[in-house]
Amino acid sequence: MNIEKKLRILNQLYKIHDNIIKNQENICKKHCSTCCTCNVTMTTLEGFNIINFFNEINKKEIRFKLKSLSDFKKYRPKITTNGFADLCVSKKKVPDEENNPKWGRCFFLQNNVCSIYPVRPIGCRSMISKTICSINDYADMDPFIITVNYIFLQFVEHMDIPGQYGNLTDILLFLLKTDQLLSYTNHSSFNPTKHLLYNRPMKMLLIPPNHKNRATPIIRSIQNSGIEDFFV
Ligand code: SF4
Repeated sequence: MNIEKKLRILNQLYKIHDNIIKNQENICKKHCSTCCTCNVTMTTLEGFNIINFFNEINKKEIRFKLKSLSDFKKYRPKITTNGFADLCVSKKKVPDEENNPKWGRCFFLQNNVCSIYPVRPIGCRSMISKTICSINDYADMDPFIITVNYIFLQFVEHMDIPGQYGNLTDILLFLLKTDQLLSYTNHSSFNPTKHLLYNRPMKMLLIPPNHKNRATPIIRSIQNSGIEDFFV
C-alpha cells in the first residue's frame, strides 16, 4: 500500500478518535499541557505525517534542534503496544519500564500550546483527564477510554508494519535523514535503528469483556476507514 493511502487512513483514524474523545467528560483545555512531556511515543507513519507538516526550512532547523536533545533522558519503550498486548494475552511478564514526566517537556510545546496540534500522534490524542493532572500527578481517565485508546494504538501500529515505534524525538531524527526517509517510504528494508522497535502485527485487541459491546461500533468504524487492507 502506498504511503499516501496509509496517511489518509491514519488521519481518518485520528478523526474517529477525536470524535469519540470530544464527547467524553474531561477538563482538558488549551494551555493546559501537563501531559506534554518528552516521553511521547509514536510510529514512523505518525512521524511521517508530522514531517509533512513542516516546510524544508523547518525540517533542517527541527533536525538540528532535535539532535541536540537526543542524549537527554526520555522514555524509550522496550516493547510496542502490540508487543505489550501479546505478552498480556499469553500471560507473560511485561518488562519494567522507567517513565518520568519530570525528564522534560515536549519539544513541540510553545507557550504551553502544541505547535503541531493538527498532526499530533495518537498517544497525545489519547490523553484526557476528568480532573486536573497537575494536582494528582496522573490523568484521571474513564476505564473505557483507556480501552478505546489501546484499540487505536494497536491499529495504528499494525498499519505501519514494517515501520518502527519509539520516542517521538528518536522517530523524527530517524525520518529526518534523507536516506532513511526514502527507505521508509519505499518500504525497502532498513537496519534496526538504535532506540527504535519494529512495529508488530495486531493479533488480538486488548478489550476487557465488560467493554466489548461498547467497543464493537468503534471497531466497525475503524474497519470502514480502509484499514482492512492491512489484514489481508
Ligand atoms: S506533540 Fe503536541 S500534544 Fe503531543 S506532547 Fe508534544 S506538544 Fe503535547
